[in-house]
Amino acid sequence: SSERITILIPGRIHPRVRARLTERFDLVEIDSADAVVALTEETRSGVRGAAVSGRFPASLIEALPHLQVIGSFGVGYDGVDVKAAAARGIVVTNTPDVLNDEVADTTIALLLNTLRQFPAAESYLRAGRWAAEGPFPLSPMSLKGRRIGIHGLGRIGLEIAERLVPFKVDISYHTRSPRSDVSFAYHDSLLGLARAVDTLISIVPATPQTKGSINAEVLEALGPDGVLINVGRGSTIDQPALIRALQDGTIAAAGLDVYADEPQVPDDLIALKNVSLLPHVASASVPTRNAMADLVANNLIAWFDSGKALTPVPETSASS
Ligand code: NDP
Repeated sequence: SSERITILIPGRIHPRVRARLTERFDLVEIDSADAVVALTEETRSGVRGAAVSGRFPASLIEALPHLQVIGSFGVGYDGVDVKAAAARGIVVTNTPDVLNDEVADTTIALLLNTLRQFPAAESYLRAGRWAAEGPFPLSPMSLKGRRIGIHGLGRIGLEIAERLVPFKVDISYHTRSPRSDVSFAYHDSLLGLARAVDTLISIVPATPQTKGSINAEVLEALGPDGVLINVGRGSTIDQPALIRALQDGTIAAAGLDVYADEPQVPDDLIALKNVSLLPHVASASVPTRNAMADLVANNLIAWFDSGKALTPVPETSASS
């Protein structure tokens, strides 16, 4: 229909989402979810859809009586209160699959950077130390011969595992239910996986069950040659326990893309030499972020054109 529909954008969004949505919808933009209080009742009542990157709390859902659909930017949608949305029959969409390759590629890079200290080696060259002091010190660790455990073998975890096969490392995994379509060794507990491997790669969503699941005991089980890579969510790791484990040699090193309280990264973590730290950039290339932006827009357009979202999250239903 030619009827104009109003879409709310609370907070920052990729510019391509805005550009795509403008063709089809009227947009209302506010600085953050909390700024909804500044909108008139008439404006709030007119909002039928939303596009968001980050937080969409129950309070915002409550403030929008005619909201039907929330298009969330990213595959992880822990910032959106899906329970509150589902209770109102509101559909939430995310952006699965289009970022799998990018995130898996980043994970391999972060793994190698952590083991071989390439970022420190490049800083050494840039600081003029190669010529002044001689070769950069040998990296104590290598990817060769590592036993790698993947925590989460979903869309992205599987791409990571498949990329690791040609590196000739041993690969095993833990999820709540084993996959029937892979031959990697399965462990029915995270602790069991950590005991069996020396390298743990975490790519699970932020949920009540995953919260703090990589704790002091799991790190201890990983052992003194242990390396932890986290590209999932910061909440999965007991971050103070990780910092202690890195300081006292309980594990050898960590490579992190995500943190407990982004964009805050503790000084104690930054001070460590045995970490490689990225600012949540696993999917952050122009082509991949454009594909994610298109999927946010295409979900909202499909919803209002056909009453069916393209990629609804499992907690909310797909059609009106
Ligand atoms: P999927 O839903 O496809 O995979 C999730 C995997 O985690 C499944 O194998 C699932 O298996 C497993 N899992 C879920 N809960 C648990 C649990 N309690 N214990 C053990 N395993 C569990 O998601 P994606 O692969 O698409 O994405 C995974 C997450 O990665 C996203 O939710 C997001 O938070 C994060 N991410 C981070 C990015 C970054 O920029 N750093 C970019 C993209 C994603 P099972 O259900 O059998 O337990």
